[in-house]
Amino acid sequence: MEAEKVHCLIIGSGPAGYTAAIYAARANMKPVLYQGIQPGGQLTITTEVENYPGYPDGIQGPEMMVHFEKQAARMGADIRYGLATKVDFSGTKHKVWIDEEKLIEADAVIISTGASAKWLGLESEQRLNGYGVSACAVCDGFFFRGKEVAIVGAGDTAAEEALYLSKLCTKVHMLIRRDEMRASKVMQERVKATANIQIYWNTDTLEILGENKVDGMRIRNNQSGEESVIPVQGFFVAIGHQPNSAIFKDYITMDEAGYIQTIPGTSKTNVAGVFAAGDVQDKHYRQAVTAAGSGCMAALDAERYLSANGFL
Ligand code: NDP
Repeated sequence: MEAEKVHCLIIGSGPAGYTAAIYAARANMKPVLYQGIQPGGQLTITTEVENYPGYPDGIQGPEMMVHFEKQAARMGADIRYGLATKVDFSGTKHKVWIDEEKLIEADAVIISTGASAKWLGLESEQRLNGYGVSACAVCDGFFFRGKEVAIVGAGDTAAEEALYLSKLCTKVHMLIRRDEMRASKVMQERVKATANIQIYWNTDTLEILGENKVDGMRIRNNQSGEESVIPVQGFFVAIGHQPNSAIFKDYITMDEAGYIQTIPGTSKTNVAGVFAAGDVQDKHYRQAVTAAGSGCMAALDAERYLSANGFL
């Protein structure tokens, strides 16, 4: 397979990837960015963003990512649709396969592949995904207005999404596997004070019921062992995220959850010339603005690497 040679390859198109592309393009590194399966990343499945500086009136997440992409393109980044499916970081040229067919050989690689929603792992959850099962209340809640839904999870995301759903749906059944919530106190209080959110403590989901649409769920109290079937039309999963780092695991040092480890204060990974930015290496902050900041760091680190090694 004939490889395409590039100076700076950026994998992923969230705030980290596009910011890296803006900086790399302006530094004449001729960056090529592959967008992955969800161009724009997680912000494309949110609504209002109120905490990104520079937007005094807030902005819709998908629109903001269009702005990021346009800015990167205007600076000269080569933005392409495609998914990195395999890598070989054993040599000085870093090999990355796109969609299992195209091979890129890059002097420097910036990994900004983000994180994805976690699932419970039930067969019924997979079968009904998109047919009443969703991991994004903000994206899909609208389809369940005036109906009863369930949400599983007890973190800030679950609390936020339960509150969001409570405004659209007649009732929200919130399934929590322990006897306490992990969410911040203020969010817990809001959830508990909402009349149409019913909390089920110590509760596991055994099965989501329905053929081509969700019509109920079978749950069990993990203290008493008591099982019950509750009719719902939508089932939302909000149990956290996992970093999209699987294809790098043979080469890049990660923690036990799969977050890429960078040298503190830099975007450098354990492989020279490979840098990481955004949620794939950040389990603490996970904000658009911190991701963008780390994308800038990765482009500056990559530029120094390319110059120091005579690639630029
Ligand atoms: P978290 O990891 O904080 O919470 C995940 C929740 O899902 C936990 O309550 C966990 O239960 C539960 N869970 C995990 N696996 C299962 C399972 N198999 N079955 C049932 N329940 C399960 O993820 P979040 O996405 O909520 O939050 C991520 C980060 O983002 C946090 O730091 C959060 O504070 C932050 N955030 C902040 C917001 C804000 O400030 N507005 C909004 C949203 C997120 P258990 O507690 O038992 O482990």
